[in-house]
Amino acid sequence: MEPSYDLSQDNTLVLCRFRPHNDFEREFSSKEIVEIAQDSQSVTIFQTKEKGEPLSFPFDYVFDENDTQSTVYEKAARPIVDGVMEGVNGTIFAYGQTSGGKTYTMTGPNFEDPVDMGLIPRMITNVFYQIENSLEHLEFTVRVSYSEIYMEKIRDLLAPEHDNLKIRENKIMGVYVEGITESYTSTGDEVFEWMKYGTKNRTVGANNMNMKSSRSHAIFSMTVSQTNKLDYTTRIAKLHMVDLAGSEKVSKTGAEGLRLEEAKLINKSLTTLGIVITALTESKKSHVPYRSSKLTRLLQQSLGGNGKMSLIICCSPSLYNEQETISSLRFGARAKLIKNTPKVNREYTLAELKLLLAQAREEIRRKDKRIKVLEDLLRQAGIAIPEMVDLDESDFEDEYRDGAYADVIQELEDLRSRLSEEVENSLKLKEDVKEAQTESEEYKSVYSVMEQHIKYMDSQIKNFENSQKEKEDLIEKLTVGKESYEAELSAITTKMLEQEQKLNEREVEIEILKNKLKNMKGDVVQQQRTEEDQRNEVKKEIYRKYTVSHQLPPIKESTIESVSDEVYDEQKWREEKRKMIRDLQKRISQVVDLELALEEARENYATLELTMSEGERALKKKTDVLERNLEQLTLMYHQLASQKSALSVDKQVAERKSQRLQEKIRILEDQLKKANVELDKCQREIKYLTETFEKTSKLSMLGSSGGLGAIVPSGRIRKSIKGGVGSFKPQIPEVTRNYSVSINM
Ligand code: ADP
Repeated sequence: MEPSYDLSQDNTLVLCRFRPHNDFEREFSSKEIVEIAQDSQSVTIFQTKEKGEPLSFPFDYVFDENDTQSTVYEKAARPIVDGVMEGVNGTIFAYGQTSGGKTYTMTGPNFEDPVDMGLIPRMITNVFYQIENSLEHLEFTVRVSYSEIYMEKIRDLLAPEHDNLKIRENKIMGVYVEGITESYTSTGDEVFEWMKYGTKNRTVGANNMNMKSSRSHAIFSMTVSQTNKLDYTTRIAKLHMVDLAGSEKVSKTGAEGLRLEEAKLINKSLTTLGIVITALTESKKSHVPYRSSKLTRLLQQSLGGNGKMSLIICCSPSLYNEQETISSLRFGARAKLIKNTPKVNREYTLAELKLLLAQAREEIRRKDKRIKVLEDLLRQAGIAIPEMVDLDESDFEDEYRDGAYADVIQELEDLRSRLSEEVENSLKLKEDVKEAQTESEEYKSVYSVMEQHIKYMDSQIKNFENSQKEKEDLIEKLTVGKESYEAELSAITTKMLEQEQKLNEREVEIEILKNKLKNMKGDVVQQQRTEEDQRNEVKKEIYRKYTVSHQLPPIKESTIESVSDEVYDEQKWREEKRKMIRDLQKRISQVVDLELALEEARENYATLELTMSEGERALKKKTDVLERNLEQLTLMYHQLASQKSALSVDKQVAERKSQRLQEKIRILEDQLKKANVELDKCQREIKYLTETFEKTSKLSMLGSSGGLGAIVPSGRIRKSIKGGVGSFKPQIPEVTRNYSVSINM
């Protein structure tokens, strides 16, 4: 990639953006107090207070409410991104009162929407676009971190449990946050995932702490490092994207208690920012109090340093916020005067290092010569030459601060300290791995005990299940037996009832026949009587006729009656009588038959009653036994069911325990794997560093120099992205806390 960044542009880019009126402001007043110049390079505020003098502020660009996110990006952020791709540090931040539009500008209402996305997502997309379209011999790595400063404490938004991080400074890394999570990423989407993750952590805080997000400063940082594979030069640039807390005055917020303390601390950061900016813009350079607040300390290298800075003042156009708007514009106007000295951050090539070492050795040789001359002179003058004394670091620094090989020595020192750090880390890791292994062994043995227990429980459960099944079968058989007995019993009962009914019917029939017989006997007697009477009448008639014909004297009635049967028509009478006797005999034989049938039915009934009561008794006995069996079986069944449910609960508990143990073992195994990978990596790094160190020492002794390895961040795995691989195709990654994949595209 050919350098295209204009390093002569040393002033800070300050732009101003007015958002549309909100409903409240529209209702408050319709008076327009803002006028943006035709060339969009200045803005005038028509004051309603302070004697009403219009105030004019020049800026690099003034955006009105109709300017799109894309326009804002082109003017305010693209130069910063271009600088970063050349190896120049860049910082972009939004300043203004709460609700001035800072978040809308920096993040956008939706950072995945191509139209609405704010500056941060656009910058990220552009960095990756430029990487994808860079020359093939360039290899990039991109690291991101996301932090917030709240009440003068730095919190890692990618690992929110780290909530009071310290700021450190050294020659190699410059100003940095110690222990902050830096994640290697290889696509824009991966960065977005991290952004989302961090923003979620910030939002959680906001809910808990009442609008905390508007009272904390959020800093999203990307470190883009590029290595030229032809000459092995490396360029590293940091890009800070800052969403500042609201700049409103404490008095206006009406804050009390914790809110007041909070507002004071936020104001401290912003006030220090103002003081730093004033100090930086003074013609006579005075002390710049970067260390007075976390924000200015962290941005020290961006503010008036060797990077490029862009500041966007976000304002309300309303009369309601007139004073806040004027104060923000004044801040911006002052910042406009800050001069930076943009510089490409690059590391020495091998040839350059060799040259530096040669120069250093030449310098030492010259100085040794001079020392010798001076010592000789002292000796000649009789002055004792002092023993060799160890120079302390400050002497060393004074003497060699600007020396040609100070950097090399410094780097050697750094290498040495990093080496010992790495050794320490690897030892610690080894210990951790050992601990993890012992823990894993313990868990494994617990697990095997649990497994055995589970097996035993399983066999117990199986036994119980089998015996329960047997008992269930028995119950079923008994139930079937009981049912058949019950059916038999009911059949016998029905039969008995039928017999009883028949018997009753017979008795009724016999009763009827008896009555009939009785009636018939009565009839016969009656008939006999009637026949007697008739016979008597006939006799009387015969006698009367006889007496009349024989002219005999009438005889008495009683005498007639005693007249013998011979006189009566014997023939006829005998016939009648025989007929009646036959009929009577027939009826008597019928009655006898019926009586015999009745007797027989009675006997049958008695037999049936006897049989039935015996069967019933046996059946009852059987039923009782069956019922008792059933009761016992039901009891046993309930016992077994409760045993089974207790066992299945035990089984579930055991299974859950086993699952937990397996999960623990899996985690431990993962940790072990990771630790082994880390250990491996450390060992490789140590080997590499030792080799580099040895090579460098050898070279420095021999008068030539070896190359210093590129800075390898510890505890992380780099994901390199090669330039020139075609069009930019973002992939949505699955975000995990630690990457363990090395991507070489
Ligand atoms: P801050 O971050 O400064 O507190 P916000 O960015 O949250 O302010 O903006 C406050 C409100 O104004 C939000 O509802 C936002 O959508 C709206 N807003 C801000 N700037 C613009 C703009 N340029 N165009 C449209 N709406 C905007």
